[in-house]
Amino acid sequence: MKELNITEEESKNIPGSKTSDEKIIIQFTCKVCDVTSLKKFSKNSYEHGVVLVRCPSCQNLHVIADRLGYFGEKDWDIETYIQEQQRKDDVEISETITQDKNNQ
Ligand SMILES: [Zn+2]
Repeated sequence: MKELNITEEESKNIPGSKTSDEKIIIQFTCKVCDVTSLKKFSKNSYEHGVVLVRCPSCQNLHVIADRLGYFGEKDWDIETYIQEQQRKDDVEISETITQDKNNQ
């Protein structure tokens, strides 16, 4: 996955989690309406919880990570999906960045 190049100022304007812990920013394309957008969420949620993103255009929810098995396989994330390409989901993640909390 190539790294997303984004300034600190730009990252503040990305919708999503506002807490001060480490963040992951993803760029994803909704395959329902073909709109690309950016979302930000805590790394902790991504690694240990459930992360959903809502498409700002069609309002569909997309599962990005599911460590608790709410939506199917336990300990599933979008990277597993990209590697396996078996899951027929309706979202495509094009870029990700991990934002270090010392860097904010
Ligand atoms: Zn959409």
